[in-house]
Parts: sequence; structure tokens; C-alpha cells
Amino acid sequence: TQYVYRFGGGVSDGGKGNKNLLGGKGANLDGMASIGLPVPPGFTITTEMCTRYYEDGQVFPESLKTEVAGGIAHIEKVTGKQFGVAADPLLVSVRSGARISMPGMMDTVLNLGLNDETVVGLAAISGDERFAWDSYRRFIQMYSDVVLELDHGAFEEALEIAKEDKGFTLDTELSAADWQALVKKYKAIVQEQWGKPFPQDVHDQLWGAVGAVFGSWQSERAKVYRRLNDIPGGWGTAVNVQAMVFGNMGDTSATGVAFTRDPSKGDRAYYGEFLINAQGEDVVAGIRTPQYLTKAAREAAGAKPLSMEEAMPEVYGELARVFDLLETHYRDMQDIEFTVERGHLWMLQTRSGKRTAKAALKIAVDMANEGLITQQEAVARVDPAALDQLLHPTLDPAAPRDVIAKGLPASPGAASGVAVFDSDTAEHRAGLGDSVILVRVETSPEDIHGMHAAKGILTARGGMTSHAAVVARGMGRPCVSGVGSLAIDAKAKLFRVAGREVKEGDIITIDGSTGEVMVGKVATVEPELAGDFGVLMEWADKVRRLKVRANAETPLDCKVARSFGAEGVGLCRTEHMFFDAARITAVRQMILAEDEKGRRVALDKLLPEQRGDFVQIFEIMAGLPVTIRLLDPPLHEFLPHAEEEFAEVAEAAGVGIEALKRRAAELHEFNPMLGHRGCRLGVTYPEIYEMQARAIFEAAVEVAEKSGAAPIPEVMVPLVATRRELELMKDVIDNAAKAVFAEKGRTIDYLVGTMIELPRAALKAGEIAEVGEFFSFGTNDLTQTTLGVSRDDAGRFLTTYVDKGIYARDPFVSLDVDGVGELIELAAERGRKTRPNIKLGICGEHGGDPASIAFCEATGLDYVSASPYRVPIARLAAAQAAL
Ligand code: ADP
Ligand code: MG
Ligand code: MG
Repeated sequence: TQYVYRFGGGVSDGGKGNKNLLGGKGANLDGMASIGLPVPPGFTITTEMCTRYYEDGQVFPESLKTEVAGGIAHIEKVTGKQFGVAADPLLVSVRSGARISMPGMMDTVLNLGLNDETVVGLAAISGDERFAWDSYRRFIQMYSDVVLELDHGAFEEALEIAKEDKGFTLDTELSAADWQALVKKYKAIVQEQWGKPFPQDVHDQLWGAVGAVFGSWQSERAKVYRRLNDIPGGWGTAVNVQAMVFGNMGDTSATGVAFTRDPSKGDRAYYGEFLINAQGEDVVAGIRTPQYLTKAAREAAGAKPLSMEEAMPEVYGELARVFDLLETHYRDMQDIEFTVERGHLWMLQTRSGKRTAKAALKIAVDMANEGLITQQEAVARVDPAALDQLLHPTLDPAAPRDVIAKGLPASPGAASGVAVFDSDTAEHRAGLGDSVILVRVETSPEDIHGMHAAKGILTARGGMTSHAAVVARGMGRPCVSGVGSLAIDAKAKLFRVAGREVKEGDIITIDGSTGEVMVGKVATVEPELAGDFGVLMEWADKVRRLKVRANAETPLDCKVARSFGAEGVGLCRTEHMFFDAARITAVRQMILAEDEKGRRVALDKLLPEQRGDFVQIFEIMAGLPVTIRLLDPPLHEFLPHAEEEFAEVAEAAGVGIEALKRRAAELHEFNPMLGHRGCRLGVTYPEIYEMQARAIFEAAVEVAEKSGAAPIPEVMVPLVATRRELELMKDVIDNAAKAVFAEKGRTIDYLVGTMIELPRAALKAGEIAEVGEFFSFGTNDLTQTTLGVSRDDAGRFLTTYVDKGIYARDPFVSLDVDGVGELIELAAERGRKTRPNIKLGICGEHGGDPASIAFCEATGLDYVSASPYRVPIARLAAAQAAL
């Protein structure tokens, strides 16, 4: 087996660039080399070697030594330098790279190959003594930190002392001799902490770093990350060894990061930051404030330091050409790392760039319009769950705001919440239900949980590509970064700015689209859904098979649902209509009545109200099916609580308060969710369903007469377990229809069906389908009844269940495909056997969850029904499931 693949200098052993074998970074270095881009030569040790390394008990096979020697020889040949030879020393970087970028993996080691002799050679050949000693001390510090895992504080302290001694504040003020002296101190720290001198043999250095990369694959952090993200341990990581190029060789050198399009808004404009005379991660570390890439961006920000376009026009031109080549090659927006060494451009990394939902949408639509990708690919590229971000409010431009500072618009969207100054507090207060804004000087990987818990993130340091900015965009959290004017005192839990003080718990608002920071809460407005959003939805609808309906019961819900493209109502819960203040008394009178006669008196009052509800819904949903569920909840939910409520009902019904209270006590249930609810109400009090059915048909006839287009009612009976229940209820409904049609002299087509939300109903679906013309899987209740878990009480233990891998995800959020899913498949199959054209749909939270929607597609259901705001998500997810 070949374990080493070379790249650069006209070589690309990897061929098409296999990510599984070479890791993401290695495959793309190879890919860039293969299309002739300037990549410093190097080689990749494969992920297969990592796997074998662990299988063999953490030793390297002899053959690897030979292959690595071949790899080094390749780099030496291309660069003309020699590894470990003082005359013209080759320096390399050692970089980890799994299939997908993964926290927990070893950080990159730069400048490997320096020792007490080669540093002198480097000084001579570069003509820059200061640069050589600075590089050596950086190397010792990095190697000690990431490979030897020594305490880095001691090194930082030594540097601080060196500066203090000289009265300097900036690293750049230190001279070659200062760095040389510091190298001596650093080596002493290594000797003291490690018990051995800093490795002088460059091959020992190399193998130490290679071993550390493979070792980091099994680090605790990496393991946790893999567990949380379902990444198999067997994948392994690759190691990339690559010739160093230097961005810190004076003012014609630079290093930077860039995106081929704006990752925040998606505009087709190069986007990035760079630093003159700097190395590697100086840009992302936020130590110096980076400069803009383009003149336009600099001017838009009103910044002074020249952009790369202005400061280095030739190299910038070359970089722009590379951006275009990379987009054409990878057919996606790229996130790039580059270095300029004495006017010469080198590419160090490229990958598909992370982006906000807004940018993902715009980039997908633009690229399809540019002909770079197909419309179907565009549909496949946008994460449906991320659309959520776009469907949420932004700050009302007209609302008054008390702006106290301005930073970089690092991740769009607006958020208000209490200021907190550390991630643990953020998590804690979010757990208590507070909206939280996490305020940090800068963030690091240790802040992930706090960022996740927060509604928004605010930092004092760091640019648009800082940790805070990148992670916030990925999570869809609004973020304002680099607010230099914030004086944060995390210990005292406060920040000061412009003579104001904000303490922990004070409410602030951030606008990640403008960079503004405000005191207090600011009003928000609903998003605009035309433009790219509409275009992508249209393309999605072309490939989608599943219909998408909405769960809606108010005229407002129905209007929102239609504007989001719902193709009908999949669940109209009639009980919500009963809570209306104007009619609750009549509802209570009906429930508390002693007999049918008493109930009918109250139901007669409710009939016109209920008819009015349906008229409005049918009008809004003209031409589309509307599934109306008859009364479902346990009656106790409607019972009066307060004395005056009893009095009101007593007066309306003309009975005594004491009698009413006795009746209320009779209705008490120990386990109401499994009690007198659903069709059990209809079986015991058929007059309730009769009234509802009458209201539906009267409304349907009324709308048909008025508008000329007949509504399509689908009357749904809840909580059916047996064929007989449905049969009884269908009679009630059909009789109401017959009566209404006879009275009005007009007939309306309608369906009668049932929810499948009890395991027994799923099992007996074949029989039930003899009566029911459609099934709607009520997966909220079906999950409760199948798992025997109450949704309202599950919070106490479900997280533990998910942590321990008992359920992969919260089964109330994402369908338990294994268990509940099997019941659905079985019911669908048995139902179809009896009635081949039976209409099948799903309602409940799962109807808006992409993974559950994929299951519905695979099971061949006819439609999914989701809450109005999730309708666009469902449309996109359904399209992707069909691709
Ligand atoms: P990460 O995965 O954290 O981005 P990288 O391996 O990309 O780690 O390395 C981080 C930074 O180190 C790069 O952005 C680049 O600036 C610098 N770097 C890596 N290899 C080299 C090299 N051969 N020459 C110069 N700089 C390098
Ligand atoms: Mg890193
Ligand atoms: Mg990188």
C-alpha cells in the first residue's frame, strides 16, 4: 500500500484528489497543484496510515520511513533546499487534516527544521537575521505547545519579560539579538519542563510532529467531537508536510485569508483580510487588526490602511485569477488561505466556505444562473434547517435605538438579551429561559457551549474571520465582532463604552448585519421572502413530489401558510377556536351540561361561531384541501377555574354553581391524555361532532355559493383505535352532510378519514381503511403512545437519553424512524392494501423536520404538514428528499 502522496512542482500523486484517503486539506492541496496553481511542494501521509498506526499498536511500519524520505526528497528537489542542512535549510509545516475539518486535531506546526545550526544558515541565506531568530523562537514555542504539550504560559511570560526589560510594547520592536536571547530562554524552559533538551535532529522533529498528529486523532476533544457529530473513529486523519513559505519577510510579504464571495451576504465580491509582514495564523488570532483585501471593501468601511488591491496590485491580480479558477474547478464558493513571499503568491489551502443561510441562498441561485451548477444542485446545496434564519425577524428600522458602540457585522440577524461575560453563565442563564448575549474579549473553542446557548455574540477583538465570526455564522447566531471601544472586565462582569457601563444581566441588543450595539431591547420586523428565496423555492417545487401543507387554524396562520406556499391545511385543530373569550362560556356550558338536551342548547350557540371560522379558512384556502380535525382534547382543559368563571357559566346555563362544581369534579381524570378525549368524546356525545360537521358543511356550501369554487373539506376523526369507532363517527358526519346538502340544495365533495396516532390503529390500518378515506399520521401522539413517553414530561430525562445514545435525536423533534417509523410503514402498507388510492399524510412537529421528511418521501406519503413558518423548510427538504 502506498501511504505517501506528493504534490507541487508539477506533481500530483493524488490524481482526482480523494478526500477520504488524503483528508480534506491534503486532497485540495493536491487538487490545486493538479490545476497548476502555485502550491508549496509537499506530501500527504494518508488516513489509511493513521488507521494502521492504531491497529499496529501505535508504531510506524518500516516502509513509511522510506516513503517519507521520498516525500522529503521531492520537496528538496522542487525547492533546491535541504532538510537539516545549514547552507540552505528546508523548513516545513506539519498540518493535520481529516476528511472534514475537525476541532480537537493537532494545530499546525510551522518552521519545522530549524535548530541551532540551520537558524544561522537561514539568517545568512535570507539576509535577515531578525527574521531567522524570530522564526526559530516561534517554532520552539509552537512545537513545545502542540507536540510536546508543555505549558505555553511560561513562553508567553518569557516574551513579556523580554519586552518589559527593554521598555517595548510591540513584538516588532525586538531586534535579532533580542530574539536570539529569547530562544535561549525558551530552550531552557523546554529542558526544565520536558526534562530533555529541545530536539535538534530535524528528523526527530518531523517524526515527533507526525506522531502528534496521529495521536491527536484519539484525543479526548476529538473523540467527543466525533461522538457528537457521528464521525466514525475508523476514518483517521491525514498528515500534510509542506515546504514553508514566508509572509514575514518584510513589506513585500504578507499572509491572508479570503472567500471567493461574501460569506455573509453572498454577494459576488472577493472578500477577505490580510496582513503585511506576518506569518500563518496572525490573521485569525486577532493580534493585529487585519487590512481589507479589496479597495471597495476598505472604502465601504471607511478604513485607512491600504487594501491588498492597492498595496500589492500585481499579486492581488494574480490572486483574483486564482479565485476564479478555484470556483470553476470546485464549483462552489471557496475559503482560501494564502501567503505572499517577497512578491510571490502561494496557495496554502482551499475548501468550500462556510456561509450564512442568506449567503448560501444567494450563492446557490447566482451560481445556477451563472451556469456553474444546475438548478437541482442549487436546490441540494441549501440546508433547509438554515432557512430558519431567514424566516426570522430583523431590527425594525423605524424603532428607536440607543447605539453605544459599533463593530464589524460578523454574522447577520439581530438579537436582544441579557449581557453575560462567560460561557458557563451563558449556558446556565439560557437554561433558565433567559435570552442571552455572550460578551467576550474574543472567543476560543472553549466557548462553543456558551455561543450555542446565546442568542447573539459580541466581541471586542477579532475580524470578520475571527473564531467568533466564523463559528457564529456556522451556528446562525448574530455576531458583532471587533468592537475595539468596548472595555470588558470579565472578572467584574461588566463592560464600559463611551462613558456608559453595562453589567451582567442588563439587556442589550446587537445587530449582526450592521455591527451596531445597543442598550435595551429594540423592536423587530418580519423578513422579506421574495428574490432569491422565491427563485430557489420555485426550483425546489419543480423536483418535489411530496405536497406540503400547513397546520393552521386561524385566518392569520392560513394567510402566512399560503404566502409561504402551503398547498392546503393538513391539520386544523378545532379546539383552539373554542378557547376564544367570546365563546368559552358556551363551550363550558356544553361540557358541564348534565344531559344531551343541555349540551344541545350550548352547541346551538356555538354552531354559527364555528361556521364562521370555517368560512374564513375556506375562503383563504380557496381551491386547496383543508383537513379539519374534530374536537380532540380532554374536556377538563376547558373547565373553569375561578369562582367568577363558574358564576358566568351558571348564569348562561341557568343552573346553580354547586351543581356545576359537582359536575366539574365528576369530569376530573387521572391521566387525561389517555382519557376521555378524541373520538371517545364523539362516541359518547355524538351531538358535539354533529355540530362541528354541520358547521363545516354549512360553511362549505356558503363559500361555494359566494365564490363559485367549492372548498375541499377533509373531516378528520382523532384518536381512533378501532374500525368501529370510525364507522360510528363517519355515520354522524355523513348524516350531517346529507342534512345540510338537502337543506341547501347543493352538494360538496368531501372526505372522511382518521388520524393514526395509536399503535392499535397502525396495526389495524387495513380494517380502518375500509371506512377511512385518508390517514394522517399524528406523529406527536403516535410518538407518545408508541414510546410510552409523555411529551410534556420528557424534558427531565430525554437529554440524558440522547446523550447516552438511547435515541439518536429527541424523538419529538426528529421522527424515531426505527420504531415509530416502522408503525407508519406498516400502517401505510396495510391501508393501501385495502384502499389503493388512500391519501396519506403526516401532521405534527415532524412535518417540518428535514430528516423526518426524507422518511416520509421514502415511505411514499402524499404530503407533510408543518407549522406555517416551517412550510418553506418542508418544501426544500421535500425537494432534496426527491433528488
Ligand atoms: P488550520 O486547519 O487550523 O487552518 P492549517 O494547517 O491550515 O491549520 O495552518 C494554519 C496556518 O498556518 C495557515 O493558514 C497558514 O497561514 C500557515 N501555514 C501552514 N502551512 C504553511 C506553509 N507551508 N508555509 C507558510 N504558512 C503555512
Ligand atoms: Mg487549527
Ligand atoms: Mg487552514
